[in-house]
Amino acid sequence: MPDGTVKQIGPLTGTRVWTVPGRAHRPLALPREHVRRLQPGEDRRLCAFCADRYLETTPEKSRLVGPDFTELRRVPARDVDATTAQFRRFGNLFEIVSAEYWRENHGFRQPTPVIEWAQEYLADPVGRAHLTALAEIRERASGVQTSLEEAALDLLGGSHDVVVARRHVIDGAETDDELASAGTLTPDEHGAYFAFTVRSLAEIQAAQPNATYVAVFQNWLRPAGASFDHLHKQLVAIDEQGPQVDHELRLLSHDHDLYQREIADLAVRERLVVAANDGAVAFAGVGHRYPAFEVFSTSSANLPQEHSDAGIRAVSDLVHALHAATGVHVPTNEEWHYRPPGAPWPMPWRVVLKWRVSNPAGFEGGTKIYVNTIDPWELRRRAVDELERLRDAGALAPGIRIGDECTPADAHLRYAERAGTADR
Ligand SMILES: [Zn+2]
Repeated sequence: MPDGTVKQIGPLTGTRVWTVPGRAHRPLALPREHVRRLQPGEDRRLCAFCADRYLETTPEKSRLVGPDFTELRRVPARDVDATTAQFRRFGNLFEIVSAEYWRENHGFRQPTPVIEWAQEYLADPVGRAHLTALAEIRERASGVQTSLEEAALDLLGGSHDVVVARRHVIDGAETDDELASAGTLTPDEHGAYFAFTVRSLAEIQAAQPNATYVAVFQNWLRPAGASFDHLHKQLVAIDEQGPQVDHELRLLSHDHDLYQREIADLAVRERLVVAANDGAVAFAGVGHRYPAFEVFSTSSANLPQEHSDAGIRAVSDLVHALHAATGVHVPTNEEWHYRPPGAPWPMPWRVVLKWRVSNPAGFEGGTKIYVNTIDPWELRRRAVDELERLRDAGALAPGIRIGDECTPADAHLRYAERAGTADR
């Protein structure tokens, strides 16, 4: 508009967003009000996801240890402190879609390996005490009484998992606001975190035959929905893929190039390409309720687990760079989108990173017009400046092209070229 108002419509969602001039330069994150000095060792016990409190979470399905991120599976309760987990995966104590949901609505029965794992875990006194304490917490929360054996199966065999990083605060932190966000990880650590999440996604999908989709997301800080300020991702198996994927599949049915035409070509035309590497490209997104980056895999693979190691790492490196450019104190949602295994049309793997810097309220509720304080061009400008600074400081993975270093060829998406086949 002549006064500088930018009206956008989300190409995949139809969401209407206005950016009103004069609001873009407000600070993204206010400094924390109560900053506390940490006592010696307190950095390892700030929340239930911390390294000295392993038994406050459910029995561990898997952990990565050491500089090579070696995987240890189903570490017994008595051994959890024998190694330090760089990343660990376990069932969410308070699931969005519960084990009971799959049992009651789909007749799902746990397979023999999970039943045997539960028996082994209960046979060990430390394991038994661990499960007893967790079962009591669940019983108090739900008001439903179950036997310890039943509770153990639910806690071990659920389909809503959490992947937690080692640090709550950065190594050597002196105060409790020196949080370890995804952007503070090294590119290698973030690569291991990402690849571990992709493997977990494949495992949950395989373990829950009634699931049509596994939602993958990362909520960072409380305004973005996180319970703890401790870096973690969540994976939730669901028995429908949700209206957004349904909508995209309808659009795809008559336009397989949807994402190329509506997102990538638009980004090139409007100079919204933020960064790229050999395997992924990042755009400043159009028509989002919150300032949002969209990182697309440029591979011909569709599902995350169909990507090569290099393909996963390419997506990880760009997502890592954008988390670093975002900063630690900005609440964010990271959402993964990909082709549901049963979907008929090719879809790319993309990761959307949203800055939760505003709170939709009565205006949005009444009009369904969303006011976003930062337009896509301003979002790109901020990100490009910060990425260049971070690259100069050696904080990014190698091989990232930033801003105008990117060419239209970087925005070429190959997801529809070899539909359904693995990327080798
Ligand atoms: Zn913690």
